[in-house]
Amino acid sequence: MKRIELTDIKKAYGETVVIPKMSFSIADGERLVLLGPSGCGKSTLLRMIAGLENIQEGVLKISGEDVSNVAPGQRNIAMVFQNYALYPHMTVEDNITYGLRQNKVPKEEVEKRLDMVLDMLDLRVYRKRKPKELSGGQRQRVSLARATVKNSEVFLLDEPLSNLDAQLRVSARQSLLDIHEKFKQTIVYVTHDQIEAMTFATKVILLNKGEIQMYDEPYNVYHHPSNVFTAKFIGSPSMNIMEHVHIISNFIRIGKQRMVLDREWRGYLEENTNYFCGIRPENLRITKKKSEQEYSQIEATVQYIENLGANFAVYLQVEGSQLVAVIKEPDFDVNEKVYIEFLQDHLHFFDGTTEKNLGRPASLHSQRQ
Ligand code: ADP
Repeated sequence: MKRIELTDIKKAYGETVVIPKMSFSIADGERLVLLGPSGCGKSTLLRMIAGLENIQEGVLKISGEDVSNVAPGQRNIAMVFQNYALYPHMTVEDNITYGLRQNKVPKEEVEKRLDMVLDMLDLRVYRKRKPKELSGGQRQRVSLARATVKNSEVFLLDEPLSNLDAQLRVSARQSLLDIHEKFKQTIVYVTHDQIEAMTFATKVILLNKGEIQMYDEPYNVYHHPSNVFTAKFIGSPSMNIMEHVHIISNFIRIGKQRMVLDREWRGYLEENTNYFCGIRPENLRITKKKSEQEYSQIEATVQYIENLGANFAVYLQVEGSQLVAVIKEPDFDVNEKVYIEFLQDHLHFFDGTTEKNLGRPASLHSQRQ
């Protein structure tokens, strides 16, 4: 059992409250990503789990045992840091095995574990080198190897890949997935990078200002965001969020324009209530020609077009606010008047005050279990 449980955890530095009060648990063998903007408290939480920061209030349990006051060395955890934290004067193999030797693990066992990680992380040819003779990617693999040989049940990673270029990041992530596949540790991984979270996590905790915004599978975080913050944070370009949207009879009212609301949504929302209405850029359709079907589109003006490689992002001005659509091949000019349609299965309505997602009618429900 490698479950991690935090109950009513609080953390402040002097007057500055970083975590007001937080509870969550991480299941055995989960790859949990703590995600959120810089300064939201991710590293503080990770360091509390590691024992590098004291816990002022609340209880931390690992494998059912209260470890709130247990020293880091006694917690059966391994940690990987962003800056690798390798000993510069030691060779790769000495760096990897240092902790084991300190803990008096028998020599044959040390050799066996070293052998395994050298192959697993493709480090055998570098075993006699010092860190300064290695590239950034190789150093990070050494730091992963050093954590892996500990055979710890809990693996903590603080922005482990952010010093690597995009290609190396992909291969390091794969190494990490291989390690997890083999050892099934419970992983807690801190990053501010949503792509990293989506590709690596089995579960994501999205934080903002020391509070959990959503705790769910990556699929649901993207497709069913809990609130406006989550909707905007995940996805690039971000979800379009239109403010002050109203439902009036069978129409969605956006500024001075209106669009017929699909049958599925009718009756689900209240009239004359203030909503935030969200739609992802890939769920907008743009045409040059007005549809013959009345009120099926709204008018917009093309502001500018960004080339994303496989797609283009078309920025549009609608009723004084900006929307972005991601499409394959735009044939519009800047300042051209166009017509947009929403794929309404993909609309999100958020409460105008609490900003919480109001869910969707059962007929549209596609929550993946
Ligand atoms: P994140 O990892 O999400 O970027 P951190 O957990 O590092 O955020 O920091 C959360 C907040 O706590 C920040 O506002 C940061 O300035 C503050 N903080 C972190 N460590 C200390 C410290 N040792 N002393 C005072 N404030 C700190």
